[in-house]
Amino acid sequence: MTDVLSLRGITAGYAGVPAVRGLELTLAPGEILALLGPNGAGKTTTLLTAAGAIQPMHGTVTAFGRPLHRRLERNARAGLILVPDTRGVFHALTVRENLTLRRRSGTGRALELFPALEALMGRRCGLLSGGEQQMLAIAKALVCEPRVLLIDEMSMGLAPIAVQALLPAIRSLADRYGVGVVLVEQHIDLALSIADRAIVLHHGRVALTGPAADLRADRHAVTEAYFGTRTGTDAGTGTDTATRRHVWN
Ligand code: ATP
Repeated sequence: MTDVLSLRGITAGYAGVPAVRGLELTLAPGEILALLGPNGAGKTTTLLTAAGAIQPMHGTVTAFGRPLHRRLERNARAGLILVPDTRGVFHALTVRENLTLRRRSGTGRALELFPALEALMGRRCGLLSGGEQQMLAIAKALVCEPRVLLIDEMSMGLAPIAVQALLPAIRSLADRYGVGVVLVEQHIDLALSIADRAIVLHHGRVALTGPAADLRADRHAVTEAYFGTRTGTDAGTGTDTATRRHVWN
């Protein structure tokens, strides 16, 4: 099946300093790819590059078989939608206003996947819980009929239980509508529980990649990739056992 997104040999960063180096990433329709790694590993930079928000120093990005357009909104119109970690919702507007702001196809698919929003349509976004705001951010992206969704840190500020409530909707989106999803997520186990494949970045490079089920079954390998160590001990990594365990919570 033709990939909906392809990053080949990508080096990207800021002011000439690479934050991601030599990255290879592909995404098939209906596939969920979890993009994991510690703070500063290059996950957001990868998503921004994939969305066309920053231009790579080296390498090529293609979406739906074509090179990315230099203008972000042109890529969005083609179906490549970024849900930023800042959530991109307007606090002074109601849920309904947020959803219909960039209306193209109506709110049907968004409400089908997030039925809890129906009862909140008249509420100002600033009064929603963190989990409801995140739900709205993704629902808002769905109104644009994405073919690829790039979701940055869905769990930012959310309890694992709130993240857990959102994840089945992401899986349904991929399964029912064939939307390809790149999911940046700090809760590794939760992300791997719905993903098909995963990439662990460390210092801007791919430290580990494979089927999500394989990574989930080998926590040791993931933890090592996450912290950039092969020894299996904490020596020299500056990370203690509690920190390592936290990664999986
Ligand atoms: P986090 O989980 O903390 O969000 P991340 O994996 O998403 O981290 P990036 O945000 O992609 O990582 O950052 C990768 C590197 O690029 C870091 O060293 C970061 O300090 C640097 N960086 C990010 N944004 C900028 C910027 N606007 N200007 C300069 N450097 C930046």
